[in-house]
Amino acid sequence: MQPDVIIVGAGPGGSAAAITLAKNGHKVLLLDRKEFPRDKVCGDGLLPGSVRFLNKLGLKDQIQTAGFNPINEMMVISPENTTINISITPRDKDTQFYIAPRKDFDVLLQRKAVASGAKFLIANAHEPVITDGVVTGINIVKNGRVSTFTSTILIGADGSSSAMARTLAPQIHKVQQRILWRRGYISGLEIDPQRAEFYFIKEIAPCGAWIFPISATSANIGLGQYQQDYIPKQKNLNDLMEIFLNHPHIKPRLSADWKISNSKSWYYHLATWNQPRIAFDGALLVGDAASFLDPFSGEGIKNALHSGIIAGEIVDEALRKKDYSYSILSGYERRCKKEIYSVIRRSLAIKKCFELFPMQMVKLFNRINNPNSLTHRFIEKQSGNFHIGGDASN
Ligand SMILES: Cc1cc2nc3c(=O)[nH]c(=O)nc-3n(C[C@H](O)[C@H](O)[C@H](O)COP(=O)(O)OP(=O)(O)OC[C@H]3O[C@@H](n4cnc5c(N)ncnc54)[C@H](O)[C@@H]3O)c2cc1C
Repeated sequence: MQPDVIIVGAGPGGSAAAITLAKNGHKVLLLDRKEFPRDKVCGDGLLPGSVRFLNKLGLKDQIQTAGFNPINEMMVISPENTTINISITPRDKDTQFYIAPRKDFDVLLQRKAVASGAKFLIANAHEPVITDGVVTGINIVKNGRVSTFTSTILIGADGSSSAMARTLAPQIHKVQQRILWRRGYISGLEIDPQRAEFYFIKEIAPCGAWIFPISATSANIGLGQYQQDYIPKQKNLNDLMEIFLNHPHIKPRLSADWKISNSKSWYYHLATWNQPRIAFDGALLVGDAASFLDPFSGEGIKNALHSGIIAGEIVDEALRKKDYSYSILSGYERRCKKEIYSVIRRSLAIKKCFELFPMQMVKLFNRINNPNSLTHRFIEKQSGNFHIGGDASN
């Protein structure tokens, strides 16, 4: 059977598109080079915005019963060591903030896609097949053999190392915009299981570092570094991790037998000011393949789910109209620009301000910490979910 749609990558973006399309009765082939469950380098933070999209995809019960660690407080530490404690009260129990290890989380989405009718295949996708400017399928490698699969529409959801984007939109994944990350799971550190910790540290800035508890005894720990800073500063991710573990908020909490396991590195590409082309004749890019990660917070699951759902809706319309050209698929670009890219551009602006004027960040922290300041009241009012109770400990 020739599928209507081939989706490369069964992470949050690909699985969200697969669920949306399979539920509408389309023949979907969902490919991933890995068998599920599989690990993915991530902070494992499942924020309320992501949970809302998961509920929309019909995963409400699975998320609530999966045993993911609920978070009700975020401690943010500034480069000057000012601490802000933000208590997070979900508007309702459907929008809880969880730390959800990707090994256990992504498989829920991939299984939901299969239960909705998508066919899952383990295969390594090489590159899209383009005939007269139109994407008509994909070359894959399975058990060492190369074969070509034809499809009506191809969705590239193969993450930040996307082979689909490399061919279709090479401008998206430029090395200059790459941030390298190290992530592991730490045990032997005293943690409050309901509190996530986020650090801005001079030596690590402009990237951040975090401790996100997955249980009472273990936490996801990680930090990042711009690729362009990697060689000139002669500091690598291991050195930065050592600096992080020596932070005055962390060192005293380490027991004699602390250890970090499953330590891995990965990278992603920062979004650019203008949304690149992500729709083509016969193909779309979603999630990290389209560089939809929030450049300030590093949150990417929400936009992967959101873009996957939009892609599913637009491709459904294209299949019903039997028009797979850019003229109809560009509707995906327009919706992403309005619903996702407007927020990405705002985050880019905030990030740029912090990079250019790092001391403003300290001032901002102090203002957020002051319950009488307009900034404090504005953030609390806007978020609805958060109550900021800074302890002003310096
Ligand atoms: C260190 C780090 C920390 C992060 N922390 C957070 C966080 O706390 N919260 C948050 O919301 N976001 C976080 N993110 C971002 C988040 O991980 C991504 O934005 C999200 O996973 C994007 O989903 P996706 O479906 O687009 O891609 P992915 O989740 O990367 O899925 C892509 C899939 O494609 C498959 N694939 C890749 N290439 C091929 C190929 N050639 N053939 C077949 N299959 C292929 C992969 O195996 C994978 O399963 C973090 C990212 C990093 C690097």
